[in-house]
Amino acid sequence: LLLALVIGGSVITPARRQLPWVILALSFALIAAGDTFNLFERTVGATRIGTLFNAIAWPGAFMLISLAMWLRPQPVDVFARQRPAGFVLPGVAALGGLVVLFAGTVHHITDVALGLATATLVLVGVRLALSTRGLRLLTEQRHRQSITDDLTGLGNRRRLFNVLNTYFDELADRRLRPRTLAFLFLDLDHFKEINDSFGHPAGDELLRQLGPRFADSVRSSDVAVRLGGDEFAVVLFDADAEYAHKVAGRLLNRLQEPFLLDVVSATIGASIGIAMAPAHARDADSLLRCGDVAMYRAKLGPNAVELYNQDLDDDGNLLKLADELRTALEEGQFVLHYQPQLDLRSGSIAAVEALLRWEHPRLGMVPPMKFIPVAEEAGLMPALTSLVLDHALRQFSSWRDAGRQLDMSVNISPTNLLEPGFTEMVRTQLAKHNVPPVALVLELTETCVISQYERSKAVIEELRSLGVTVSIDDFGAGATSLAYLGDLAVGELKLDRTFVNGLNSPERSRDYDLVRSTIALGHALGMRVVAEGVEDLKTLDLLGRVGCDFAQGFYISKPLPARELVLSSDRWSDVPQPA
Ligand code: C2E
Ligand code: CA
Ligand code: CA
Repeated sequence: LLLALVIGGSVITPARRQLPWVILALSFALIAAGDTFNLFERTVGATRIGTLFNAIAWPGAFMLISLAMWLRPQPVDVFARQRPAGFVLPGVAALGGLVVLFAGTVHHITDVALGLATATLVLVGVRLALSTRGLRLLTEQRHRQSITDDLTGLGNRRRLFNVLNTYFDELADRRLRPRTLAFLFLDLDHFKEINDSFGHPAGDELLRQLGPRFADSVRSSDVAVRLGGDEFAVVLFDADAEYAHKVAGRLLNRLQEPFLLDVVSATIGASIGIAMAPAHARDADSLLRCGDVAMYRAKLGPNAVELYNQDLDDDGNLLKLADELRTALEEGQFVLHYQPQLDLRSGSIAAVEALLRWEHPRLGMVPPMKFIPVAEEAGLMPALTSLVLDHALRQFSSWRDAGRQLDMSVNISPTNLLEPGFTEMVRTQLAKHNVPPVALVLELTETCVISQYERSKAVIEELRSLGVTVSIDDFGAGATSLAYLGDLAVGELKLDRTFVNGLNSPERSRDYDLVRSTIALGHALGMRVVAEGVEDLKTLDLLGRVGCDFAQGFYISKPLPARELVLSSDRWSDVPQPA
């Protein structure tokens, strides 16, 4: 009976580890055999084998039972293929039971046999029910997995197409009242930068935190999915364009809250394209394309959110954008504007910052914040920076030839620091235009330095030994850590314009203190300090009084093409001298 029980048990729980069951079965088999010999000993007489069996059966069985209990569960082998529950043993048992019951209708058999056969059939039934339930759960789980994105917990591309195809099928069905649908196509800015500078675990963490923010921003009936990489989509049912804009704004707000990653807190932006169905498209693929086209416009245009319209269609989509950037490089659609920096001691223009502009053939002037992230992603930054250096240093020479010596500041991207041979490229460009290295300032943002500290430190040192000045741009805007400053071969600090702007107003006294102490700190570390974003005379006065070295901003001049710049020194002679 016990032996039958154990065999039955191992059949009912097929997924469990089998070894203890086998040992248990073995021990009961041993007892059964031992007792059988014991029985024959009484009736037939003792044999040698029988005596031997009697001696070992019970102690051996108990040892095996203990062993079965004592065996620890082994860690599950993830690589082993999961074996589905077998149906052979239950099938044989059921067949056996049926045969016994059938025989019972023809011959007389004992009630015990009938009872056992019935019990067997009931057990097989239970076993089948359990298997079916397991299978159903597994199927549900597989289905859920197949339509969710692992990192964000949002839906994935398959889910999006399921939803859209169902919607468009319903739309085609004339018996149903047509519903409207708004489709948001979203592409993150600066995601690649975060991935490259802080590593993929940081990028993954960001995506993980992103999921709930998306889910919070839409109704439970809406669908938010990750299409892959840093592309997302949201489907809003029964929504008009106005509501879609509202959701887009909400999403952008939620994205702008900093993400706390392991090492830093990062902020990202996004561009969103909106397309409406059935107004703009009548199938899923066209709808996606419309969203993409509108998003492309949002990437380049002044608004972060754009609604699709037919006119945009000629502009193409993001895929085309990378191509366009390549063409722009080849055809020289990039130009530099220069913004002067006023020397607050002498009251003359002593330097300029080169700022990149793209003269897009159809869209007009595209600002750098719009296309630089795309260039980063398309791997075009090395070429672009080398082009900027080339143009800027050529301009330096032509001013010098005209008798005007102006230091030249050039912005470099985080990825530039990581590219091998960057210092060499700078050296070559300087030599090509015969520019003394001291006249060149390379501006790096703070976050980029902190994220790749060791590598940045090494490159900054290389540049310094070349004679080039490295400047920390947007200082104070990011995750400021003053601790590292003294350790880097940095020659200039550029105060971020958020501190400088409107510094003179009374409610900004905290910023005033901050600016004053940062200037003092910069000077103590042997750096010069440049304030950017100076938009009025009062701020300029104030900066002069707290000992700032250089000032840059719209009040002095907007960035302009070289020939339009006013560089005369007498204009600023009334600027207050530093205390
Ligand atoms: P940035 O280096 O902080 O450049 C200063 C930005 O502030 C410029 O915007 C400039 O037009 C703007 N600005 C100057 N004065 C004022 C002011 O008084 N008030 C206000 N509100 N803004 C002012 P722009 O030219 O659009 O450049 C934006 C950013 O694009 C730059 O920020 C820089 O990070 C990046 N960038 C520009 N050119 C290049 C380049 O050649 N290479 C790289 N890697 N990045 C570049
Ligand atoms: Ca800059
Ligand atoms: Ca700046």
